[in-house]
Amino acid sequence: MEFPTSSDFVIIGGGVMGASAAYHLAARGAKNILLLEKEAFFGQGATGRCAGGVRYQFATEVNIRLSLASLPMLERFEDEIGQAIDYRQCGYLFLLTLPEDVRVFENNVRMQNRLGVQTEWVSGDKIRRWLPMMKLADVISGTFNPKDGLVDPNGVVMGYVTAGQRLGVNAQTEVEVLGVQVENKRVVGVETNRGRVSTPLVINAAGPWAGLIGRMAGVEIPITPIRRQMLTTTPLPEIPESFPFVIDFAQSLYFHREGQGLLTGMSNPAENSGLDQSIDVDWELTHLEAAARRMPLLEKAGLQSHWAGLYEVTPDAHPIYGKTPVEGFFVCGGFSGHGFMHGPISGKLMAEIVLDGTASSVDISMLDLARFAEGRLIREYNVV
Ligand SMILES: Cc1cc2nc3c(=O)[nH]c(=O)nc-3n(C[C@H](O)[C@H](O)[C@H](O)COP(=O)(O)OP(=O)(O)OC[C@H]3O[C@@H](n4cnc5c(N)ncnc54)[C@H](O)[C@@H]3O)c2cc1C
Repeated sequence: MEFPTSSDFVIIGGGVMGASAAYHLAARGAKNILLLEKEAFFGQGATGRCAGGVRYQFATEVNIRLSLASLPMLERFEDEIGQAIDYRQCGYLFLLTLPEDVRVFENNVRMQNRLGVQTEWVSGDKIRRWLPMMKLADVISGTFNPKDGLVDPNGVVMGYVTAGQRLGVNAQTEVEVLGVQVENKRVVGVETNRGRVSTPLVINAAGPWAGLIGRMAGVEIPITPIRRQMLTTTPLPEIPESFPFVIDFAQSLYFHREGQGLLTGMSNPAENSGLDQSIDVDWELTHLEAAARRMPLLEKAGLQSHWAGLYEVTPDAHPIYGKTPVEGFFVCGGFSGHGFMHGPISGKLMAEIVLDGTASSVDISMLDLARFAEGRLIREYNVV
């Protein structure tokens, strides 16, 4: 499609948030939507580097409600959007090794159950019988939700981009936004490597780069990029197809089946902020040692692939939706390492905010940008 000089809606960032917002705006009948992605393909940022996990198990009501709205959209995705996304409901199993985590998770499970999420308690002995290939002597107990699982991130992004294009979205790759033009506290355009586009409305969906885009408009958006990395192994026939997404919560260490092998990752608590996406080999070694202590099978597996990506972290580990002090300049970002699963509902919520003035599908009024200046932060304990 031709590159325009003006547009009614410009969305910066073709990850899951930008693609979903573009589709949902178009599905509501909006016209002249321009989706801009700086890379050669959509979904090469955090979305394309993520673990693909989707879960209902969260520690705050708003995150649970986002999952209650978003995961059914993924279940219906192929029918509604016309793209297969390989939703595997293998369940998430959180392993708890610290008494203080057990207490917090007891409260979380009570809240999840109250909201209609059927998370179950599993005793340490049951987990040890369930996963004999793992070393779990220190596990006190765990929580399991059979409806949590895995989804193909690329399928979701391309499904929304393609469905949006069918509805008239102008989706462009290799277009980098270099500046956001503001006049009299109102957005009037964006400057790109392909020229200027005048527009009265911009959605900043640039993921880990959203803080940089904010600064282009003179708006401070507290989204910090923090590197996270993972690896996959060569085939391990001992891992059954039904193997859940296992999270050793205290170590932020996780495993799930990927192809015939395993995917494993571990968050480095000392990682500095920055845009470096190269692999930290020292941390990879630390991670592999911890992973092999839990899963000795790993010692006989080969490395299939490894990569690093960027979490988009906010001070309270919750996303930021909606307006900013610059009129017409909106933000949808800061999902702090679990945004892929909330991409479907987030795009719908952004369409509501932009077209109706307020989000109605889920009450996200507390997730506004102003909360940081006003000290209304929210805490999420289940950050992996
Ligand atoms: C290692 C890792 C594991 C994860 N695991 C999970 C998981 O299991 N489950 C889950 O739900 N979430 C997970 N996440 C988090 C999830 O990936 C993110 O929350 C989500 O993908 C954010 O989507 P986004 O669209 O906001 O950002 P992105 O996907 O990063 O999209 C932003 C896009 O903006 C583009 N862009 C940036 N600057 C510009 C510019 N100037 N001009 C034009 N385009 C620009 C970028 O190229 C990028 O494509 C993980 C993240 C990482 C890094």
